[in-house]
Amino acid sequence: MFKKKIFDHEIYVYSGCVHIHSEHSFDSPVSVKKVVDAAKKVGLDFITFNDHLSLGSKDDLQNINCADIITIPGYEMHDPKKNNHYLVYNTEKAYDKAIPAKEYVENISKKNGIGFIAHPFEIRKSKLFRKYEWNYWDTEKFDGIEIWNYLSQWTDSFCKIPSVVQSIAAPNLTLSKPLRKSLDKWDEYNKKGLRKSGIGGVDAHGKSLSIGSLSLTLLPHKKLFKTIRTNIWMREKLKKENSQEQILAALKNGNSVIVNYANADPEMFYCGIFSEDKGKFALSGEEISLSVGKLRFYTYLPQDCHISVIHNGERIISQYQNKLNFEVKEPGFYRVEILRGIYGWIYSNPIYVTE
Ligand SMILES: [Zn+2]
Ligand SMILES: [Zn+2]
Repeated sequence: MFKKKIFDHEIYVYSGCVHIHSEHSFDSPVSVKKVVDAAKKVGLDFITFNDHLSLGSKDDLQNINCADIITIPGYEMHDPKKNNHYLVYNTEKAYDKAIPAKEYVENISKKNGIGFIAHPFEIRKSKLFRKYEWNYWDTEKFDGIEIWNYLSQWTDSFCKIPSVVQSIAAPNLTLSKPLRKSLDKWDEYNKKGLRKSGIGGVDAHGKSLSIGSLSLTLLPHKKLFKTIRTNIWMREKLKKENSQEQILAALKNGNSVIVNYANADPEMFYCGIFSEDKGKFALSGEEISLSVGKLRFYTYLPQDCHISVIHNGERIISQYQNKLNFEVKEPGFYRVEILRGIYGWIYSNPIYVTE
């Protein structure tokens, strides 16, 4: 955790990785303990597990020393055609077999579970890899969308032999920016006033590649923990007794910012909408009313970057600098997209302005 001062207000930032697989997934050989140890070494504040059709991490976590890290068990659901991947939290049990997406999205919502649409769109240049896309859009029952997924983008980069070599040798270079299609879909829901949050996932599996007697771990968990993170911004310190619930609530409400740490550390970054005297303010996932008086949007970065401000899905500002501010006159949602060089760096969740 680190503290951030925005004007006179102290904010507590908890840095975490979501969408992590362990040996409870058929396609990962890594134990829950090894995942937790890797996350501690990197200094993460929280991690969330999402094994395929399994909440197996939950029992393992009871027997592991999780003193310095908050661990949240969840699972990843899919339908019989292996599409419609869904990251699920806050449920007693996991489905142990594939069923149609409509059923699990509705049932999980009914039982107060929390669900995020995983890697909604994928671009596969090679026929060797299939797509696992979301196609059940006729619903509003989900809580958020995984707008950036490391593994999905890495797999998208595979096309010809030279690119395969490059993708294995320098995997982070494949991490360009979230797919515009995913961001547009996210905005589409928020334009309807549905307040869907965004998260960024690593989708770590730690699979091994064997060539003769050589074995190489592709995308080890520890490496991915230094890439796409979802950082939670809290007005108060997390309470020990219910830190898991608080993190899940923050992810659901979008009190978070998605950051690619392979690009740079975002420590000094902030964005928020403030009243004239800066006494009242709203950060990502929060709401502020125009009736408060004059409002200004502020964002600050440690260095010059390409800053885009999105209002109700439209890019209203696109500038290369380290800070900007402007008067907020219109209701709706405001978020920022920040590129450092040509690579995506920071994607904030929306701030909601009401009449
Ligand atoms: Zn998936
Ligand atoms: Zn996954």
